[in-house]
Amino acid sequence: MKIYEAITLLEKGEISPLEIAEEVIGAIKTRECDIKAYITLCDDIREQSQNAVRGGRMWGIPIAVKDNICTKGLRTTAGSRMLGGFVPPYDATVVKRLKENGAVIAGKTNMDEFGMGSDSRYSAYKVTSNPVNGLYVPGGSSGGSAAAVKAGMAMGALGTDTGGSIRQPAAFCGIYALKPTYSLVSRFGLIAFASSLDCIGAMGNSVKDVAIMTDVISGYDEKDATSANRVKEAYFENLTPSVKGMRIGVCKEFLAEASPCVKEAILKAAKRYEEMGAFVEECSIDAVRYAVSSYYIISSCEASSNLARYDSVRFGYRTENYESYEDMCIKSRSEAFGEEVKRRILLGTYALSEENYDLYYMKARIARKKIKDGFKALFEKYDLIISPVSPAKVPKAGENCEVDEIYEKDVCTASVSLAGLPAMSVPCGSDENGLPIGMQIIGDMFKEQIVLNASLCYEEGGFCNV
Ligand code: GLN
Repeated sequence: MKIYEAITLLEKGEISPLEIAEEVIGAIKTRECDIKAYITLCDDIREQSQNAVRGGRMWGIPIAVKDNICTKGLRTTAGSRMLGGFVPPYDATVVKRLKENGAVIAGKTNMDEFGMGSDSRYSAYKVTSNPVNGLYVPGGSSGGSAAAVKAGMAMGALGTDTGGSIRQPAAFCGIYALKPTYSLVSRFGLIAFASSLDCIGAMGNSVKDVAIMTDVISGYDEKDATSANRVKEAYFENLTPSVKGMRIGVCKEFLAEASPCVKEAILKAAKRYEEMGAFVEECSIDAVRYAVSSYYIISSCEASSNLARYDSVRFGYRTENYESYEDMCIKSRSEAFGEEVKRRILLGTYALSEENYDLYYMKARIARKKIKDGFKALFEKYDLIISPVSPAKVPKAGENCEVDEIYEKDVCTASVSLAGLPAMSVPCGSDENGLPIGMQIIGDMFKEQIVLNASLCYEEGGFCNV
């Protein structure tokens, strides 16, 4: 059942929150042992559903929360051994807003450690499978959230996206998800990866579900210094499934990177938008060729600085035997961080060092500005840009890939993150293995409504179920 359908049935009294809870618990019982979407499952889903805020917008709706988002009294690990025993004393603003609106927290979902990765294999806890076909990866880093939603083990989920981690797993699992404009959703209570890029966003089984969740979690928060102070929009209420008269650009640089079946699916989608009344043409943004390098330099620099706080003194894992403060710090960090996190810390520290700062970090920032300006120019001409979410098909689990090859696949999503723009992942076909393909619909700053409208138009056209 979709969230918006459940809300209507609940309002009419045709279903109770407990019945919805039972449905989700049933799915968890049958599917979680194979899929492994959760790091921590809430054992009080029934009780929560009985006590949920009645009359709240999401009364009785079970939501899965990515494990790098703080939940009061509920273990929050960020997929890392470092935070294996961390129980936050407070709720992240997004969680607080969900609860105030009556939502039920189903559990905390698996993820790549601190959000660094593309298929959830870099979790210190478990490997999540794709619910569409267990032999394939669910994507990452919000792989657990995407898998939980797809398998009905939650009605919706929160994910986080620094360079694609909401959009790419949504695409791989065949669900809908929105990475909002940077600063639209509060980051208070989100365990930081790269603060100038991190966004929290909604993942669901329909565009309407994503709109409802985004309505609930977005809006100004004085606890986040970067939070945008603007009039709150009503995305769900204003949903209009139309692209009539819209100007849509299909970015050729992103298509050039795509594997044949992905390219074909995106071109088909473009054609459908044209048939639905949009004006569609090819467009170009040259600067995206710097996107992957710029993203990995900037995000790793910020990560190396953000992760310096895990010194094993104030909180986090501490090694058993040590001789000095330095020894304790080194051993704790060496034992508790995984290989990918270490790689990023090394890369970030190297790029930030005095002799390399101008060479790498400043250069990456210049490239970021070029990408931002490139998109700005495009949005003077177009209302939306479409591209693949990932240029590649969903990979098989356990396939070994070079690190740089994995990084390269972030080109379409990381560009958008560097520019801080909103973008939706919408299913638009499947590859020869039957795994989903996702289309990315990119909007200008704070134009979430247009992005959602175009996504709904596509969903209601029945094009997503291919
Ligand atoms: N795959 C990207 C990375 O590893 C994106 C991660 C994210 O958005 N959290 O950095």
